[in-house]
Amino acid sequence: MRILLTNDDGILARGLRTLNEALLERGHEVTVVAPDREQSASSHAITLDRPLRIREIENKWFSVDGTPTDCVLVGCHGILRAKPDLVISGINHGPNMGEDVTYSGTVAAAFEAHILGVPSIAASMKDREGGDFPGAAQLVTRLAEALLVRQCARPAILNVNFPPGDAEGWSKPRLTRLGTRFYTDELIEKEDPRGRKYYWIGGAEAVWNGGDDTDFATVAQGAVSVTPLHLNLTDEEARQELKDWDLAGCFS
Ligand code: MN
Repeated sequence: MRILLTNDDGILARGLRTLNEALLERGHEVTVVAPDREQSASSHAITLDRPLRIREIENKWFSVDGTPTDCVLVGCHGILRAKPDLVISGINHGPNMGEDVTYSGTVAAAFEAHILGVPSIAASMKDREGGDFPGAAQLVTRLAEALLVRQCARPAILNVNFPPGDAEGWSKPRLTRLGTRFYTDELIEKEDPRGRKYYWIGGAEAVWNGGDDTDFATVAQGAVSVTPLHLNLTDEEARQELKDWDLAGCFS
């Protein structure tokens, strides 16, 4: 199948290279279009105020001086000139679970594919450096193949997170929902060498809560987490509740 592969860690990231190798080994036609530098936590940003420069680094390897979303757009409309069968984003160095999916450039690339009508997988490794990237790449490849033979009602977005340790030790993959996380010591206040105050966001590790069916719990228990996502942010429950309000009165 024709796969567009991207990430948010940049074109040099090991997770990207490992996944590309696994997909090629299975005979898939892979085109890599990835940011030329780290773009983690860039969310769904799109570049509209300057041109995007593309460099073909090697055959079917393209770097873009933009965001993961830019890469999906440039890849689908510019480089491939036709929709791929699937967009895969990752394997990200670090998890993308719970509310963090809203910051994630990895997941945003999968969202962009969905908007273009293409199924997508966002893959992330809990252990940023020590994780079993080759093992995870094998599993992403098999999941991609399974996704393509099934007909989904709409282009699926599968958010996959891999636990630490060797793939052989991972428990059976589980279908999950997004959990809830909160950071402790979220903001670090320090002074720079010139005596000016600065802040650093997100110091400590994520603390999470939620049931056994959440992505956080699943990865903590050593299993692979698969969360189907969609882009409809409408809160249906709140919409029902707000029907009882005098909405016009709220604006007067
Ligand atoms: Mn990243």
